[in-house]
Amino acid sequence: MDQKTIDALRARPVETFSHLIDGKSVPASDGDTMDIRSPIDGQVLTQVARGTTADMEAAIAAARAAFEDRRWAGQPPAMRKKVLLKWAELIEANALELAVLGVRDNGTEIGMALKAEPGSAAGTIRYYAEALDKVYGEIAPTSEEVLGLIHREPVGVVGAIVPWNFPMMIGAWKLAPALATGNSVVLKPAETASLTLLRMAELAHEAGLPPGVLNVVTGEGAVVGETLGLSMDVDVLVFTGSGATGRRLLEYAARSNLKRVYLELGGKSPNIVFADAPNLAEAAKVAAGGMFRNAGQVCVAASRLLVEASIHDDFVAEVVKAAEAMQVGDPLRLDTQIGAVNSEVQLAQNLRFVETAQAEGGQVVTGGGRILEETGGWYMAPTVVTDVRPEASLAQQEVFGPVLGVTPFETEEEAVRLANATVYGLAGAAWTANLGRAHRMTRAVRAGVMHINTYGGSDGTVPLGGVGQSGNGVDKSLHAFDKYTDLKTAWIKL
Ligand code: NAD
Repeated sequence: MDQKTIDALRARPVETFSHLIDGKSVPASDGDTMDIRSPIDGQVLTQVARGTTADMEAAIAAARAAFEDRRWAGQPPAMRKKVLLKWAELIEANALELAVLGVRDNGTEIGMALKAEPGSAAGTIRYYAEALDKVYGEIAPTSEEVLGLIHREPVGVVGAIVPWNFPMMIGAWKLAPALATGNSVVLKPAETASLTLLRMAELAHEAGLPPGVLNVVTGEGAVVGETLGLSMDVDVLVFTGSGATGRRLLEYAARSNLKRVYLELGGKSPNIVFADAPNLAEAAKVAAGGMFRNAGQVCVAASRLLVEASIHDDFVAEVVKAAEAMQVGDPLRLDTQIGAVNSEVQLAQNLRFVETAQAEGGQVVTGGGRILEETGGWYMAPTVVTDVRPEASLAQQEVFGPVLGVTPFETEEEAVRLANATVYGLAGAAWTANLGRAHRMTRAVRAGVMHINTYGGSDGTVPLGGVGQSGNGVDKSLHAFDKYTDLKTAWIKL
């Protein structure tokens, strides 16, 4: 990957994108489109179809027909595996093009986008492709005169709704296990990050996925997302996004066919630094990186820094130094470490959070405002706010932007109490050289993932999911198959 190739790709005009329904590219039923603005410079990049209720219904019908005639579920596992492996290969072959397109659409810095988007999506697809013929049914330990078989069957039609941060990675977390187990899918990307998912779905068809098995409908959440949520023909909804939308999806399920709803929601993850951390300089760098990469638009962002009081001032100074050293700007430059904020709306929301934090007694020790306004793009300086009281908005609500709140603590008990004092439970970390304390913290902090002496590391072999109001169910690992399969018992009298 070199800057010249990236610059050549960024200069390419972007085609207008339509939905992908039943294997065909189709415009909105009323021909309407919506402008897609690039966070890099605020300019219109292209248009995508503004989906209608009729478009979403057509996609669901296509998915249902594909599932009922078993054109995918009925194929031998080895065949499904071959198609999915080919899909992963095509994504990798087009990785740089996909990454640049995604960055122009959503603003993530290119270094991270390349790894986290096509790279991770291909890896996830390959993981589930390889796994799909290694998951067996069961024979139950019944009495001798019967045979009890436990089959795992696809659930049917899966509706997947994903957010604008890491659309390919998060999309693949849903699509790969859903398709590997034989389901049909209707995918609804976020308004501000549709392009790479549409390209990715085209590549799935190029790899041999039969038409109708994967459909993508773009447009507004309140229109096409709602239609998907309320459909009587969707069996399972999988979602990553905000808590507010998650609540709506649960309502849609209750108002329609009681479809199962799996939610991956936000977080307010505590990064807890004890004075006995093995390497405080490293911890400070990771604290900044874990918060500010992708301009803080990471569900597991280390957004609450809890620091033992005895090292508070020195440690915060190190974090500020690390934050100020991070290169913010054009996300298509290879040396950029913090790209653009995804939308103007999100930028305004981030700035309001800083104002509120100050009104509630917080001290902005670096950043706090919009920068690079002359580019027309949406950039914000990495921001550190100290003196954040546990009940303050910045300690309680997810910003989803580059704003770090710092709160001191005196004892391990207080650290645990503060860590668990939000409605969320997505991720966390503790930095300590004390082995007993490390294990105690892993158990005591309410979170789907706890890191020790690191932050944010993960791979496809381990589950990611939240507890509390961070969601239910998991993405990644073999455990994700549970969301996309039903258990069926066969009770056979011998
Ligand atoms: P969002 O909830 O606004 O949007 C997510 C998706 O829901 C989009 O596709 C949107 O169009 C759709 N949507 C919006 N309103 C809808 C409605 N009424 N009915 C159906 N669908 C609707 O979230 P966002 O701003 O795109 O993403 C940011 C949020 O996602 C943050 O809260 C972040 O923490 C969370 N997130 C969580 C994880 C995780 O794994 N837990 C990962 C990434 C992001």
